[in-house]
Amino acid sequence: MHKDVPLADYSTMRLGGPAKFLQSITEAGEIPTALAWAKKQGVPVIMIGGGSNIVWKDSGFDGLVLVNKIKGFSIQPADAESSYVEIRAGEDWDKVVARTVKAGLHGIEALSLIPGTAGATPVQNVGAYGQEIAHTLVSVQAYDTETKDFVTIPGEYCQFAYRDSRFKSADKGRFFITGITLHLKQANPTPPFYPVLQSYLDEHDVKHYTPDVVREAVIAIRSSKLPDPSIVANNGSFFGNPIISKTKFEALHAKFDDIPHWPTKDGKEKIPAAWLVEKAGYKNFHDRKTGMATWHKQCLVLVNEKATSTADLLIFRNRIMHDVEHKFGIKLEQEPELLP
Ligand code: NAP
Repeated sequence: MHKDVPLADYSTMRLGGPAKFLQSITEAGEIPTALAWAKKQGVPVIMIGGGSNIVWKDSGFDGLVLVNKIKGFSIQPADAESSYVEIRAGEDWDKVVARTVKAGLHGIEALSLIPGTAGATPVQNVGAYGQEIAHTLVSVQAYDTETKDFVTIPGEYCQFAYRDSRFKSADKGRFFITGITLHLKQANPTPPFYPVLQSYLDEHDVKHYTPDVVREAVIAIRSSKLPDPSIVANNGSFFGNPIISKTKFEALHAKFDDIPHWPTKDGKEKIPAAWLVEKAGYKNFHDRKTGMATWHKQCLVLVNEKATSTADLLIFRNRIMHDVEHKFGIKLEQEPELLP
């Protein structure tokens, strides 16, 4: 147990005040003990993973932060063509993807190089290049702070939606995720791939699609346009892609005929937030006042160049949101969670 710990060290944006108490959790069994201790002290508890999707408030957290470092990974054959993969929540996500790909398993290879822990992936139903964790997730193992018991939640009870789940909305803060189980196929991925991925594969004359070549392609694409959080402070994509009604889209399209869009299964249209931010005037934008900037190769990534407080980041965020709403009538939603 550590006291008065700077939370900036527990967010890849590297901002925020201190935590009163902080403890690493290496086994699920330590969770109820830590919660009982916090209850005795009369302080609230938050559990975090790698800090890649967290923005801490400047006021810090007057409670106990549990850092999920529960490790474990195993592959069990389900049948001749597929396997169950059991992953403890504190495992580094990209290392998990690497191990499944090495085992010839298909289903999460497009989720390569996403920063953070495995336990964080169901919270926002992490997705990229057409794959999302909901597609392969069998169950989430967690400690339920309501029933005070360890539970296994089947995927169909996770209320998965586009970058959303019950862990982020209806049951925010209720479950401390300790592990996930995936069902992956011993197979090769098949097209159609996202255009950016297909172009990369074509340019590199790849004709035989395997989990390994898709992983390598995704790594190459991501590293060519996204900053490495260990070097440049950032939280990845700062805004989600808005999904708007067909009517709203048609009105926008009449004004902006080059607006990129993707139809969703339920008859709506998904608009890339990056395009909205760029067209609102934030391409490679460096704000002297707040020390914040947009990344020169992908303006959806807000980077902390010289900001000294979360207040700076929020001023910059609000300015972008305001200008996007003013120009397009779309309210952007922040992806990283503002805590506490
Ligand atoms: P990108 O490749 O520049 O693509 C821009 C947008 O076009 C994305 O919103 C993507 O939707 C959409 N898109 C492209 N091809 C599509 C297709 N065939 N069908 C439907 N939609 C299509 O995106 P980026 O910002 O560099 O990010 C790369 C990938 O990582 C994207 O898939 C992005 O969503 C994902 N990502 C996920 C998270 C997260 O899970 N929190 C955070 C950052 C980035 P989608 O967003 O639906 O893929």
